[in-house]
Amino acid sequence: MDGANSRDRELRQRAEAVIPGGMYGHQAVGLLPDDYPQFFEKGEGAHIWDADGRRYLDFMCAYGPNLFGYANPQIDAAYVRQLGLGDTLTGPTALMVEMAEAMVGMVSHAAWAMFCKNGTDATSMALTIARAHTRKKTVIRAKGAYHGAAAWCTPRPTGVIETDRAHQIFCDYNDVASLEEAVRQAGDDLACIFAAPFKHDAFIDQAEPDLAYARRVREICDQTGALLIVDDVRAGLRLARDCSWSKIGVQPDLSSWGKCIANGHPISALLGAEKARKAAAAIYVTGSFWYQAAPMAAGLETLRLVRDTDYLERITALGERLRGGLAERSKAAGFALRQTGPVTMPLFLFDDDPDLRKGFCFSSEMLARGVYVHPWHNMFLCAAMTEADIDGALDAAEGAFGVLKRNVRDLAPVEKLAFLSAGAR
Ligand code: PMP
Repeated sequence: MDGANSRDRELRQRAEAVIPGGMYGHQAVGLLPDDYPQFFEKGEGAHIWDADGRRYLDFMCAYGPNLFGYANPQIDAAYVRQLGLGDTLTGPTALMVEMAEAMVGMVSHAAWAMFCKNGTDATSMALTIARAHTRKKTVIRAKGAYHGAAAWCTPRPTGVIETDRAHQIFCDYNDVASLEEAVRQAGDDLACIFAAPFKHDAFIDQAEPDLAYARRVREICDQTGALLIVDDVRAGLRLARDCSWSKIGVQPDLSSWGKCIANGHPISALLGAEKARKAAAAIYVTGSFWYQAAPMAAGLETLRLVRDTDYLERITALGERLRGGLAERSKAAGFALRQTGPVTMPLFLFDDDPDLRKGFCFSSEMLARGVYVHPWHNMFLCAAMTEADIDGALDAAEGAFGVLKRNVRDLAPVEKLAFLSAGAR
């Protein structure tokens, strides 16, 4: 047991007794290096502090929700103000209409908005609306793409039965032939096609959307009447001040949003085009907390910052600085580091690293130097980061590459990721 993270260890032991598996979902214990903390005590700006009081520059941004900095004073003041007035009430406040107006005003394909709590709520609602709109059942989605943790889409099949997954056909993202084959199999029963804004699956290189693929998805939906759904839960607002596929000129019929739209306060959204309005009004969806006013106050302030600041240009410039600096430093140390995806949502993988032992060593060395990176999931930049933060991360990387270089021949296999070398990716 490392005495340096004793509070974390103690919490893990207590969690094991009262939380199934010690922790669940994407925070489940086991798929990160052993020295990574499980528990945190606070966040401010671009930094987080673990339960043992150590501070890190955080390149995970809460897996996306932190866009303008943890505890952002303007956003949190709006939240707290509304909390004092009323949050969970018998019905919504005017803020719900204002938030819908703000999102519809920002996202070019959208004529309406519905609010919920998690990204999974929004993607599941999208599926139901597409089926209600088309009166058809089949959904096409890309292998390996994450759309949430409901029975229809959870990546782990335990406890899921065949009928939960019925009427789904998988294709390869960016592969027109495989898309067309899926469409052929759907016959005249196609309700919708889900698309990630870019390929952001875990464990593998990220990929930009291929324009021919995106256009073909749109064309097929137009020809068949199926709805095109862009799942912008993860990438929304880090690529564009609009739906992410607006950058390539392809408009969906529905788009799902969550994570950073209120800078970490709990609210997600489904936006839709006019043609899907009737079906959206006809389905029954709700939740005890879906009309909460305080997250909407935070969301309105977040969207104001999206409109009125140069946050996107700044995080893009910071991302480029990071990418260029890391390319230089990895090369100088003799490593082939693949940096993929948009610069605002980078993923780092080393060549010749099937069980990620190099990635684990590098990430642990970054952590030891106060920089929290992820060895196999895409990361996120936030507008609270500065050039000095990025330069500090690059210094840390220089140190981490140095240690990796000295130890690379003696690294132990990462047994918990042995499934990767067994051909799972
Ligand atoms: N879609 C995508 C692309 C996601 O990244 C996520 C969450 N990581 C979801 C849907 C589900 O969102 P949530 O965890 O808020 O239910």
